[in-house]
Amino acid sequence: MAQATLSIDLDAISANWRALDRLSAAGVQTAAVVKADAYGLGAARVGRALAEAGARRFFVAMTEEGAALRQSLGPGPQINVLGGHMAGDADMIRDLDLTPMLNSLQQVTRHFESLSGHPFGIQLDSGMNRLGIEPAEWQAIAPIVLAAKPEMLMSHLACADEADHAMNPLQLANFHAMTDGLGIPRSLAATGGILLGPAYHFDLTRPGIGLYGGRPFAGQSVLRLSLPVIQTRRVEPGETVGYACAWTATRPSVVATVAAGYADGLPRSLSGRTPLWDGEQPVPMIGRVSMDLITADVTDLAEVPRSLDILCPAQGVDDLADIAGTIGYEILTALGPRYARRYSGGQA
Ligand SMILES: *Cc1c(COP(=O)(O)O)cnc(C)c1O
Repeated sequence: MAQATLSIDLDAISANWRALDRLSAAGVQTAAVVKADAYGLGAARVGRALAEAGARRFFVAMTEEGAALRQSLGPGPQINVLGGHMAGDADMIRDLDLTPMLNSLQQVTRHFESLSGHPFGIQLDSGMNRLGIEPAEWQAIAPIVLAAKPEMLMSHLACADEADHAMNPLQLANFHAMTDGLGIPRSLAATGGILLGPAYHFDLTRPGIGLYGGRPFAGQSVLRLSLPVIQTRRVEPGETVGYACAWTATRPSVVATVAAGYADGLPRSLSGRTPLWDGEQPVPMIGRVSMDLITADVTDLAEVPRSLDILCPAQGVDDLADIAGTIGYEILTALGPRYARRYSGGQA
């Protein structure tokens, strides 16, 4: 079998959720963000494990994700939809008991007209200019919206991963100005915001990346991605390996070809720049990352293993991201559908 295995440690994800939960005061609820299929790791399994760990509220990006999550969680936990209430969503929102975070006057109107009395929250724009109702508009419509009793007022920080960024206190002040004294539960912090300290926690936090072992939270390692060795060969000095003859042997070498490539979300820009791992031992990647295959120089291993790891405790998504010039979020969410996802922990 040439299928690579993505091993997902549900206990580590739960431990990261608990650790993030402990960073805020006892009265602050810690939700879990499981949009984009729990950042590529599988929202059904991750959601159930986090519900067992004690998470009572989940955030997804779109209504369809919320509907799928409801099927796997069953009734009980709250599911908030960050993208709000889009045209055509009313039946799903009602039937699957989803709570849209309304982002605009248009969404407020749509929700009130189609699902009057159904729970909703409000997303406010405190300066990021991406989603949410802007201050002037909020001032105009707040009385009507508040009369319908939103369950939550939230906003999102643009620069929370940079603790010293001036945007953080600015957005905090804007959020206070828009929400102080209204008596509605409030949420501002995702993973980065949690680390900014209690002033940013309000009533509810919304960590995502920190659950999955990504920066800026220094959590437990969650993933191992093991690529099976399909073939090994000897090459002589002067022979080249792979597309564009990108690597040339300088000694008699043993080359292992493993099964995964850029079609599986391993960026081609990693070519030759990150090791693979045989347990604790790094093994140089050589040549180009191609669509389905990667080559490694295993000359110095006593024995060729059955697989080599590209994600493991020694090399996380942020390590790959740094080399590839992107962020851990993108590496995670790009992990492809061809991997066998194996879960450990939880009730796996
Ligand atoms: C994605 C997202 C989160 C989670 O952010 P992390 O940085 O992954 O913790 C929280 N809130 C909103 C609005 C988001 O879009």
